[in-house]
Amino acid sequence: MSDAYGQLLDATIQHVEDLKSRGVRHVAVSPETLRALAQPVKTQMHSASGAPSTASARTEFQKHAEPVLGAPPTPFALRTPPSALQPPAAEQKSLLALPGETIPGQRPPLDPQAKAAAFAALRERALACVKCPHLASSRKTVVFGVGSIDAQLMFVGEAPGADEDEQGEPFVGRAGQLLTKIIQATGLQRADVYIANILKCRPDTPGQSAGNRKPTTDEMATCIPYLHEQIDLIRPKVIVALGATAVEGLLGKTIGITKLRGGWKTYRGTPLMPTYHPAYLLRNQAMSEKRKVWEDMLAVMEKLEMPISQKQRNFFLKA
Ligand code: URA
Repeated sequence: MSDAYGQLLDATIQHVEDLKSRGVRHVAVSPETLRALAQPVKTQMHSASGAPSTASARTEFQKHAEPVLGAPPTPFALRTPPSALQPPAAEQKSLLALPGETIPGQRPPLDPQAKAAAFAALRERALACVKCPHLASSRKTVVFGVGSIDAQLMFVGEAPGADEDEQGEPFVGRAGQLLTKIIQATGLQRADVYIANILKCRPDTPGQSAGNRKPTTDEMATCIPYLHEQIDLIRPKVIVALGATAVEGLLGKTIGITKLRGGWKTYRGTPLMPTYHPAYLLRNQAMSEKRKVWEDMLAVMEKLEMPISQKQRNFFLKA
């Protein structure tokens, strides 16, 4: 499967899942689209053994799409677009939207009052959430997010730790203090950006009085719709994913953060920069690692067309 096609398929599946999680049960599909989906597959996909296969993409897509789109016509298959017909990147963006839906960047902006009201309603829903009973019973607070809902820059972390659970605010512990310093090094303040996590509740650690654990796949899948809605409402120009779990939650990629960091990705049309989690920098104090995170932030600042001084460019470079 080509990389671009795979990404498009992932994005489509993610989008359909989002819609489903928001209670959407029907999506209008044009007769042309249905006809196209029913075309026999000329595939370039290969099974693990290397043999050409269509089954994996078909089942994967059907598994996610059928509850929303309804049963497909028979035979149902995803057509691999011939490369000559592949749209240019700019047009692919609009393909991420299903008929009747637009991706966030293309929707007309909500008026400020409606946006604030929608955000407040979303927050209320999250604060009352008991979808993960074990987390609902162990948490002290639901850590929804903090910052400006008009922020151009959004940071996404993994899950609240003990300090965050205590205070009801993301990134307030040691890693959070380092994140605050990183934000300030760009010339921004915490209040200028928005900070949230993949999980809104602290992952429980039964029988332990301290310590953290990575959220499970089920916990992430259950909680992620809140973050998707936060992003849809805020519509940041850039998202920074802090650490591998944030990347996994947003993009579904389980590739190591060492490989991913520093390279632009796209979250439903929004540029996303994966970088190391500040907790990693606390464990590894090497100047070279700090410089890597800072280079990622310089790239973010450039994308946002922020002014960058020579002094900023030289941070964490050896004298
Ligand atoms: N680590 C995270 O990923 N999120 C927080 O809010 C705090 C620490």
